[in-house]
Amino acid sequence: MKKFKILCVDDSRSVHAFLQECLAPISESLEHAYNGQEAIDILKTNLSAFDLIILDWEMPIKDGPTTFTELKVMGLKTPVFMLTSKNNPLDIIQMVEAGVAEYMMKPFTADIVIEKIKQILG
Ligand SMILES: [Mg+2]
Repeated sequence: MKKFKILCVDDSRSVHAFLQECLAPISESLEHAYNGQEAIDILKTNLSAFDLIILDWEMPIKDGPTTFTELKVMGLKTPVFMLTSKNNPLDIIQMVEAGVAEYMMKPFTADIVIEKIKQILG
């Protein structure tokens, strides 16, 4: 199976731990950022360093939507998979219109996350 370089951006350590485990079969590498600013700092040096970015919505310092907008302005081409507990349809529409590749609500299962990632990355 093809393996991918993935950046996980979430303020919850338990989400990182869970993603680490469930993405193990498809991840060549998994890097962690705990808020949007950390993600931007990681990506600043190499905007195309990852095949996929998994992005939370609610985070301290810089939230998901702000981070996504800033990364787009920087020229990000990498697909962004928004994984969040925000479940208002208007929130989902807002982010899909802004150009996220996929949007999924927490809680999630490993099977579904992997299936969605396969769809995004072909
Ligand atoms: Mg959060």
